[in-house]
Amino acid sequence: MGSPERIRNVAKRVAKWSRAGHQMVVVPSAMSGETNRLLGLAREVSPSGSSPELLRELDMIASTGEQVSVGLLAIALQAEGIQAVSYAGWQVPIKTDSAFTKARIQSIDDQRVRADLAAGKVVVITGFQGVDEHNNITTLGRGGSDTSAVAVAAALKADECLIYTDVDGVYTTDPRIVPEARRLSSISFEEMLEMASLGSKVLQIRSVEFAGKYRVPMRVLSSFTPWDIDIAEEAQSGTLITFEEDVKMEQAVVSGIAFNRDEAKISLIGVPDRPGIAFQILGPVAEANIDVDVIIQNMSHDGKTDFSFTVHRNEYARTIDLLQNVVLPSVGGAQVSGDPKICKVSIVGIGMRSHVGVASKMFGTLSAEGINIQMITTSEIKTSVVIDEKYMELAVRSLHKAFDLEQAPV
Ligand code: ASP
Ligand code: MG
Repeated sequence: MGSPERIRNVAKRVAKWSRAGHQMVVVPSAMSGETNRLLGLAREVSPSGSSPELLRELDMIASTGEQVSVGLLAIALQAEGIQAVSYAGWQVPIKTDSAFTKARIQSIDDQRVRADLAAGKVVVITGFQGVDEHNNITTLGRGGSDTSAVAVAAALKADECLIYTDVDGVYTTDPRIVPEARRLSSISFEEMLEMASLGSKVLQIRSVEFAGKYRVPMRVLSSFTPWDIDIAEEAQSGTLITFEEDVKMEQAVVSGIAFNRDEAKISLIGVPDRPGIAFQILGPVAEANIDVDVIIQNMSHDGKTDFSFTVHRNEYARTIDLLQNVVLPSVGGAQVSGDPKICKVSIVGIGMRSHVGVASKMFGTLSAEGINIQMITTSEIKTSVVIDEKYMELAVRSLHKAFDLEQAPV
């Protein structure tokens, strides 16, 4: 929704679906750049602070971007000869908790929307916002209109939630790193969560969690196709994020390669190996609200062991500080070292549940490239390694090739 022209385009597309007999609810985000502009204004007026009072007003300000969008889209639809009505979050209402700037949806009353749909109207609802129990306007966090759309789709038990965005789907990995990366026609919710949380930032992660929990199939597709492409073709385009049993059998063992450069590694060398040591180290880290991702503890020698873990890179200095000043005095005898220049590369696929040897193929591939693995972690559908950041692209490229991801599986 970048310009009046683009809005007319969206209206034409929606009108096409509506005329084909589909009941449509549309959840637009703000016009491009608008939320940044609004929050920028707020910061010009009051450059600092994060008090609940201030956050409340940020939501009041930021939520207006979507309010303009829904009104514009509704009149554009009317101009197409389609009956349309727009609502802000509080009018539906979409109820949320009171965590300003990162509120969570608690419930959606679908009465009014259903009545409009039954009366043949297209309903346009603001993304990104809701209302708390005290009638304060809240927002759901940046990118939150994806989550709004899925929540509305769940409440209405929609057949599918179509997310139109600036990419044409979910890829086997980032095409900027591997030009041969291929668009997946379908992927399971669980795989998407692994891919998204590891850096394929196509959707707000929470929307995928929501869709999985409430079983709403969602499709990521391009908003840049001509509005008048054939509906059947459009309905099959992009990537369908859906139930595992519906993911097409074209599925390979590995669906994609994800990577994350935002982590840093921290090690405690020579800690006494005794019961409670992991808790003594990670307890204070958790108390400081620092998220820990990968953890390894080595075999002990002479009563000592090495303990390593990763945290977000932004928390690197704070964690080192904490270990030196809080943990070491109580644990005693160890040395703290760290490396902020690492990255995590993961292979993801539900096929890994039923195939053996997938992880070892990954290790073999990295070894053939001379890439040293510093840490390994696995789950049922993913294997991740921590390696030196400078090998990230090489690792992703060679794994993409080793698992034949550039070709559609037969
Ligand atoms: N307009 C909001 C944002 O820019 C929500 C969204 O775009 O999904 O974060
Ligand atoms: Mg968005």
